Amino acid sequence: MNEADLIIVGGGPAGLTSAIYSARALIDTVVIEKMLPGGQPILTSFIENYPGFPEGISGPELAERLESQARRFGAKIITSQPVEEVLQVDKGFEIKTEEGSFFSKAVIIATGTSPRKLNVPGEETFTGRGVSYCAVCDGAFYKDKVVAVVGGGDSAIVEAIYLTRFASKVYVIHRRDQLRAEKILQERAFANSKITFIWNTVIQSIEGGKKVELLKLKNLKTEEVSDLPVDGLFVYIGSIPNSSMVRNLVELDENGFIITDNSMRTNIPGLFAAGDVRSNTFRQLATAVGDGAIAANSAEKYLGELIWKR
Ligand code: NAP
Repeated sequence: MNEADLIIVGGGPAGLTSAIYSARALIDTVVIEKMLPGGQPILTSFIENYPGFPEGISGPELAERLESQARRFGAKIITSQPVEEVLQVDKGFEIKTEEGSFFSKAVIIATGTSPRKLNVPGEETFTGRGVSYCAVCDGAFYKDKVVAVVGGGDSAIVEAIYLTRFASKVYVIHRRDQLRAEKILQERAFANSKITFIWNTVIQSIEGGKKVELLKLKNLKTEEVSDLPVDGLFVYIGSIPNSSMVRNLVELDENGFIITDNSMRTNIPGLFAAGDVRSNTFRQLATAVGDGAIAANSAEKYLGELIWKR
């Protein structure tokens, strides 16, 4: 099991799609996932722009379907094993994890992104005690409570709307006076009587006793500082790439995303990247899945050429 023709690092939509394509092409395929397979959809309440599901689909359900489809074609999925480093070795790659090394002829990095932190006092102390990065995991704890969401992108607005199922009031705190989120989401949020927007405002600190009790806010236009009592804070301010395992190996952009060509090839032959961890991509489920299929196809061609060269 610690050797395969193709190792896919990351079991989100991009990685699992690569696995579906490569395992179905009868390539010996192993997926190494740091937690549970499924990736970002596991943490997403509801997905309504993924083609083929006109009524939408819950993120966790889609994640489960992707996983079972990959397994059905024979992909092996190893869970709870964070990959620490990918090294180029004779005839391929060594994939180092805490529990040992794996070897493969080709690798696809599909490790996605992690939530960006606010980096304000109180954030670390209250993580898990009122500060959360996952509304679908923690939203139900806030029945009839007051919560805030920070951010102005699609994630912040989708999850603010989701949180209105439980909370009595949802504040959306955004540093500008215009949202980045899609218009259709904006309209829904503006029409929701449980959501109140706090514009041009940043969080200076998160305060409380055993749990979060209030946010210290600063209005960037007026410089006014105020207290906002809340029971919870959901942080949705974008994401950072999970590319540390290849930072000494492949070319990254200035923000740490992996640079590839249109065939998902990195600058290292045999090493491919797919999905959100890729530079300059439109970060959507549909594009991650597309990347995953292309990466698998490119890896298949690469492995075929290796046989000819022998
Ligand atoms: P995003 O689009 O990068 O938005 C991040 C938001 O957080 C922006 O509004 C940004 O403000 C704000 N922000 C960034 N750093 C901040 C800081 N330090 N303090 C306060 N605010 C900060 O991230 P995202 O919403 O997670 O979306 C990521 C990708 O997934 C996007 O491509 C998005 O379209 C996609 N997505 C799509 C859907 C969908 O249903 N279509 C759902 C979720 C995600 P500024 O606006 O001022 O920069």
